[in-house]
Amino acid sequence: MSSVPATAESNSVPRRFAVVGGGITGLAAAHRIIELATERGERADVVLFEASSRTGGVFGTMRMGEYLIETGADSFITNKPWGVDLCRRLGLESRLIPTDGRYRRSLVLRKGKPVPVPDGFMLLAPARMGPIMRSNIFSPWGKIRLAMERFIPRRRDPGDESLGSFVRRRFGREALHRLVQPLVGGIYTSDPWKLSLEATMPRFLEMERRHGSLIKAMQVQADEPRHEQESQAAGARYGLFTTLANGMSELLDALEQRIAAHGAVRRNAAVISIRPAHESNGAGANIPSRWDITLADGTHETFDGVVLATRAPIVAELIRGLDAPLATLLANIEYASSAIVVTGHKLADIAHPLDAFGLVIPYAERRKILAVSFTSRKFPNRAPEGHAQLRTFVGGAMQPELMHRSDDQLIELALKELRSILGVRGKEDFAVVCRYVNAMPQYYVGHVDRIREIEMRAAQHAGLALAGNAYHGVGVPDCIHSAEQAAERVLMTAQGGSL
Ligand SMILES: Cc1cc2nc3c(=O)[nH]c(=O)nc-3n(C[C@H](O)[C@H](O)[C@H](O)COP(=O)(O)OP(=O)(O)OC[C@H]3O[C@@H](n4cnc5c(N)ncnc54)[C@H](O)[C@@H]3O)c2cc1C
Repeated sequence: MSSVPATAESNSVPRRFAVVGGGITGLAAAHRIIELATERGERADVVLFEASSRTGGVFGTMRMGEYLIETGADSFITNKPWGVDLCRRLGLESRLIPTDGRYRRSLVLRKGKPVPVPDGFMLLAPARMGPIMRSNIFSPWGKIRLAMERFIPRRRDPGDESLGSFVRRRFGREALHRLVQPLVGGIYTSDPWKLSLEATMPRFLEMERRHGSLIKAMQVQADEPRHEQESQAAGARYGLFTTLANGMSELLDALEQRIAAHGAVRRNAAVISIRPAHESNGAGANIPSRWDITLADGTHETFDGVVLATRAPIVAELIRGLDAPLATLLANIEYASSAIVVTGHKLADIAHPLDAFGLVIPYAERRKILAVSFTSRKFPNRAPEGHAQLRTFVGGAMQPELMHRSDDQLIELALKELRSILGVRGKEDFAVVCRYVNAMPQYYVGHVDRIREIEMRAAQHAGLALAGNAYHGVGVPDCIHSAEQAAERVLMTAQGGSL
């Protein structure tokens, strides 16, 4: 590898870097390249290419009268540090707000009625058995089966296992179907029988390996002071979530400003292929090369390093001419589509007290919706005084057929379910549909091995790096981490970088 240190002197002609994709991953990658280059005294020219007319990808914020509406992610977890760290570096720390402690719990639908997720139930496992025993989610046998988890032996097969198989094996059918499936489905919109445990919830696998029982492991953790906050929250650990006071687009705007100050953000600029600018001299593929990017308008540009920060099947098409086996591996990552119907209502028109952050719906309840987020209960200023904002999730890997419905049909479907489940009446203040077509990668069994292979192949292309939600986590902090690692990689491996 090259070992020429990049300094202001050695670098009188700035290196050029391209980032393909202007979602949070691409923005964070472009920002990190600029940040690292500046720290190193290097002049770097960064261009971010975004196919559509706006940056942000699946997330952004809009206003509808006094309602503040998130069109995608509405918050992010803080126990993965990369989101909060980035906000701090962007000067946004004082803009971060916590969730409203008064409503910090989740509901799950049981026989058509919202009931509380038992206190301390953390996605897959309970930290305390008392709330489980008092809950009416499970039958008496279901509770006994759950409590028997302590005595279920460890799995001996070291291979990957589906999340559905793991939960059913350790906690029984009821725990899976009545609670875990909807809680996890709310994150991945996935079929738990296909979802890889190792790729999505490795800490629970580790608990089984180390402690032999998740209940025992959760109790050990609950005794540790650092887990205090986590063990008190039920469901999706909402106590650990944060957002920006004026919405997630504050983060996008801050990133975009920094990038624009040191480089360029080009919208309506779809990249259609990437290939080496120079033919290899025959000494091997990992010789640093420059990269030629072709845009949909037929123009070409050459860069020293490129971060590919868009969805895996799109990346596959961009690099097929460069590395067909890598393209095939990327194309094999499946994606699911979903939609959110966002509605505003007078609180007086809702019979349910909305005394939680939201409601998840087990597939077994045979409803047409996956979950409802009570957005205005999570964070302040999301709805005018006396009103509520609801985000109703539809579709996902379990109900893909619903995505064929028109916006009007989705709104009608969501309102019908909200009427039946939460007693929503009267005319809504507004209703909008946000669609996410093939936006959520599905981490199916074998995902970790597939990603390992993808990364080994990608590492052969110096100056090229992959980033995004397809690889090591779908959450905003995961995307930021992936982006920042990719930025470091291209800076180091592109011509003129140092390892
Ligand atoms: C409905 C929904 C709700 C979510 N809620 C949360 C949440 O509350 N908290 C959380 O942490 N995470 C949440 N997530 C997950 C998280 O928001 C996403 O994983 C993350 O935003 C993905 O960002 P990305 O930049 O990797 O991809 P994307 O946002 O998909 O961005 C990719 C970009 O690439 C562009 N592009 C495509 N092709 C090309 C091309 N050829 N050339 C140039 N550009 C191209 C696209 O236009 C797009 O802008 C949610 C996801 C969804 C779908």
